[in-house]
Amino acid sequence: MPPFQPDQQEDIASLVHPYTNLSTFRESGPTILTSGEGVYVTDSEGNRYLEGLAGLWCTALGYGNEELIETAKEQLSTLSFTHLFGGKSHEPAIELAEKLKQMAPCPVSKVFFTCSGSEANDSQVKLAWYYNNARGKPEKKKIISRVKAYHGVTIASASLTGLPNNHLDFDLPYGDRFLHTSCPHHYRFAEAGESELDFSARLAEDLDALINREGPDTIAAFIAEPVMGAGGVIVPPEGYFEVIQAVLAKYDILFIADEVITGFGRLGTMFGSEALGIEPDSISLAKALTSAYAPLGAVTVSEPVYEAMLDESEKIGTFGHGFTYGGHPMSAALGVKTLEIYERENIAGRVAKIAPKFQARLKALSDHPLVGEARGMGLIGGLELVADKATKQPFDPKQFVGAKAAALIQKEGLIIRPIGDTIGICPPLIITEDQIDELFDALHRGLDAAE
Ligand code: PLP
Repeated sequence: MPPFQPDQQEDIASLVHPYTNLSTFRESGPTILTSGEGVYVTDSEGNRYLEGLAGLWCTALGYGNEELIETAKEQLSTLSFTHLFGGKSHEPAIELAEKLKQMAPCPVSKVFFTCSGSEANDSQVKLAWYYNNARGKPEKKKIISRVKAYHGVTIASASLTGLPNNHLDFDLPYGDRFLHTSCPHHYRFAEAGESELDFSARLAEDLDALINREGPDTIAAFIAEPVMGAGGVIVPPEGYFEVIQAVLAKYDILFIADEVITGFGRLGTMFGSEALGIEPDSISLAKALTSAYAPLGAVTVSEPVYEAMLDESEKIGTFGHGFTYGGHPMSAALGVKTLEIYERENIAGRVAKIAPKFQARLKALSDHPLVGEARGMGLIGGLELVADKATKQPFDPKQFVGAKAAALIQKEGLIIRPIGDTIGICPPLIITEDQIDELFDALHRGLDAAE
């Protein structure tokens, strides 16, 4: 083991790190961050990094935003807490719900608040089940997501997630209610010479076949991230959502768009659904909803679903779902202020303007000997590292090439995220063009060192 600083030793002695290889991490030790300003963060040893993953795809307005800090202070000193249970309410939640109703890329009757993206998707599942019970379709309960999807880690949202590490040895129940259809990853899963359009058509056929195998009357909803994030930054192939939506429309299946990463400007439009021609029945939100200044998630509820919830309340007595801190006053006040800043600064327009530079620098890395594919959209990108560029042969996972590259990139002053052997890049939306150059220069140096 390398000589660790005292704070690192205390960390190793006391903390369980989420989503971490607990065995290898003990050899390298944690990076303990102590401060942040703009797009930069500093660690306890004084090293400064460009935060190239916006924390965990979330710090859209960067660090140290005075308006947000003031908003949090003001709300805490006025009313630090009240909940929304049993008819209690507060102004920030009301204002934020109204605002989201106006902005959402789908018809919204009401907004339901949670504390996280996982809870938002968990709530989506419960609402879909509740809705179909209310409308007398108790068989219509299965939810389809996709291989490599990431929708969270609670029992229902981990079941939606299509990544082995979220399932293996966790004994998730209700396996028969969660189905995974093919992943729209053209580079990895298209057949030789298959065009993007043909690949999309084949995936739509796969979905249609799955629905018919299970029985259309058993399928409640389909959930998808507009661009897949934690599964490896996978941009859908041409025409994909058009043909997928045509299949769903045939069978009365709800489309839930998981906008937890793509919401609020990431792809150069306010929501990813707009960028990709998705017309969802509902969306899940979190992360950039408060620019990560406080935890908050949200689910939009359509009129038919809300009507069904009303009927059930009449029948059962109570809509028995909700989180103590869902729509917490400070989080909601931060949400209101964050959305005000996004609109005032035209954040989506800003991303659309600088994205060509980001994407050009990203795609230029295709020439690097380690990079099999460089892909992305807006201000999100992925670099899939491969052992052999010609054959697309992946590295042996036990070599931890992605994690080792990430450590070398961090030495160059840049934080990114290794997703297996794909490097995820997703900087704060306030990044400047010069900082985009700084980001890719550091990335290039780190990859050279990893070669
Ligand atoms: N959905 C998507 C698309 C995500 O990327 C994430 C987290 O990365 C989640 C849901 C889960 O959000 P949380 O970690 O806030 O529970």
